[in-house]
Amino acid sequence: MSWCSGLEAICQADVPLRDHTWYGLGGPAAWLVSPRDESELATVLARCTTEKMQWRILGHGANLLVPDDGFQGVVIRLAGEVWERVAFRPPLVEAAAGMDFPKLVKHSLERGLVGLENLAGIPGSVGGVIRQNAGGRYGTIADYVRQVRLLGADGEVQVRAATEMAFAYRSSQLDGGVVVAATLELQTGDSTAALERHRTIWSEKYASQPPVSARSAGCIFKNPPGGAAGRLIDEAGLKGQRCGAAEISTKHANFIVAHPGATTRNVLDLITLAKERVFERTGVQLELEVEVW
Ligand SMILES: Cc1cc2nc3c(=O)[nH]c(=O)nc-3n(C[C@H](O)[C@H](O)[C@H](O)COP(=O)(O)OP(=O)(O)OC[C@H]3O[C@@H](n4cnc5c(N)ncnc54)[C@H](O)[C@@H]3O)c2cc1C
Repeated sequence: MSWCSGLEAICQADVPLRDHTWYGLGGPAAWLVSPRDESELATVLARCTTEKMQWRILGHGANLLVPDDGFQGVVIRLAGEVWERVAFRPPLVEAAAGMDFPKLVKHSLERGLVGLENLAGIPGSVGGVIRQNAGGRYGTIADYVRQVRLLGADGEVQVRAATEMAFAYRSSQLDGGVVVAATLELQTGDSTAALERHRTIWSEKYASQPPVSARSAGCIFKNPPGGAAGRLIDEAGLKGQRCGAAEISTKHANFIVAHPGATTRNVLDLITLAKERVFERTGVQLELEVEVW
């Protein structure tokens, strides 16, 4: 009996993950599973546990680097109508984990709910944004989260208040669980001014980094305390450095862009080079922001 017996309708074997990541890199997932609702997700997690299958949750792949030989386990994708639901109950917004975050920002602003314009230009799903506590100069998602609904690997649902999520710089505490939905608390306000601020923040962000269409995963490294990873890499003379068809961006040194023909190995080699050169020059150990499977 196959591990996915009874789940055939939602399981696909040997699926290229490059089609599911912003980088467009990486090999196949042994299995790609798309549960249609929370109870199916619980069944999949339980099955992975009993069958001792490694698993990962895939959001929108905007912060992921998948190895060239892929992932030899189960990749779970929260896509489809149920996972993209959103309910507006001003000033609260309840969004399912697969909802596209930029769309959530836009729809909230259109309804006169303001706040998320501060996070303009951050691609990803609601689940991924919460997991990474995504954000930037004008705040992070933690500023708006009121509670998070998690499904533990044991299939138990937990509703956690924001204060129980241990949000920190690009991290949150999920204890191995899956974000299935979140309640955000926004403010009713002047949506015209907020839309204008969204445009300004978006333009400011993309004036200093590669365009949203470039194949990247956003910043590769976290900023070290009191410093900027991009500046350290730039000062190490690495802007424009290439390994194969991957390149440390000439626009922002904390981005590695993948040109046609690049491999994950090329990106990983640039990561190693940047870490080594920055450490030699400054003694700073750069830490990855991007998730490497
Ligand atoms: C052009 C560009 C610009 C970016 N700018 C920013 C920025 O300004 N600030 C910033 O913080 N980030 C930025 N990023 C990175 C990215 O947008 C964020 O990290 C985002 O949160 C990733 O969400 P995702 O759904 O794509 O997650 P994925 O990349 O799919 O996954 C990232 C991690 O989250 C986990 N995950 C995903 N969904 C769930 C879930 N439902 N439950 C539990 N775990 C989950 C995955 O297993 C993985 O470990 C940028 C990326 C790009 C490509």
